[in-house]
Amino acid sequence: MSRNGDVAVVTGAASGIGAATARLLADRGWRVVCADVQAERVEEVAWRIGPQARALRVDVAREDDVAAAVDLAVEAFGRLDLMFANAGVFGAYGPIHTADMDAVDATWAIDLRGVFLSMKHAARVMRPRQSGVIIATTSPAAVAGGVGNHAYSAAKAGILGLMRSVAGELRPHGIRVNAIMPGPTATPMNADLATGDATAVERTAELLKARTDGKRPAFAEDIAEAVAFLASPAAEMITAHTLVVDGGFTAIPGDSR
Ligand code: NAD
Repeated sequence: MSRNGDVAVVTGAASGIGAATARLLADRGWRVVCADVQAERVEEVAWRIGPQARALRVDVAREDDVAAAVDLAVEAFGRLDLMFANAGVFGAYGPIHTADMDAVDATWAIDLRGVFLSMKHAARVMRPRQSGVIIATTSPAAVAGGVGNHAYSAAKAGILGLMRSVAGELRPHGIRVNAIMPGPTATPMNADLATGDATAVERTAELLKARTDGKRPAFAEDIAEAVAFLASPAAEMITAHTLVVDGGFTAIPGDSR
């Protein structure tokens, strides 16, 4: 589905959905800059993919880091066709009246500012070429909320407004902007939340069955397939859209939290 080695930056590529997407895109002929704050892990992901991948330590909250990831894509591979603004943390958690505002700000810096910066720097190099795709990872928490994860829910809701605004601005420039909304997905983030052990992904998949009507939960590869579709020419008419990938978890009555 790639057109002669399309080029992507994937943030949060050291783990979970980002790593699975980097691998899938590379399998389909893309060249990929794998960006993550976990330097060693992201280097390993890129090394396993092979010569069509580069790794860069990037803190998405820092503008210079995000700019460097985009510049690396252009320097190493000639252009940028896809920005997958996917890095995120669950972050600040607890009752609103005792919220630690440093922790709340730190969550927003990654989950919202990081996506904003990723869109900003993708647009910087995509506009001159009048082509490109930007995809940001939101969450059902954006619309349903979640008791205690106020900062995360607010950031993920912010992504939806940001995505639509930027999609409107960039549409005349041939750039599509969409969001992907994974349901409960067996990744290290959820494993950590469910079991306190980020490596317990398989066990987490079993636990998540209770929240998905006994059916299997999503795996990172399911989300990666949807990202690859949104990034492909087959999705040329899809922009300003939120693609829910949750096996019906969000929409079907009685199948929610
Ligand atoms: P994960 O923890 O496996 O991966 C997240 C990655 O983001 C990690 O590699 C981490 O190092 C990276 N990251 C964190 N802070 C960063 C920063 N400041 N700069 C750069 N990278 C940073 O989790 P995942 O489940 O793959 O999550 C990916 C995205 O999907 C997140 O935005 C998350 O909110 C979203 N999401 C996940 C689920 C789920 O059920 N797993 C559901 C809905 C949305």
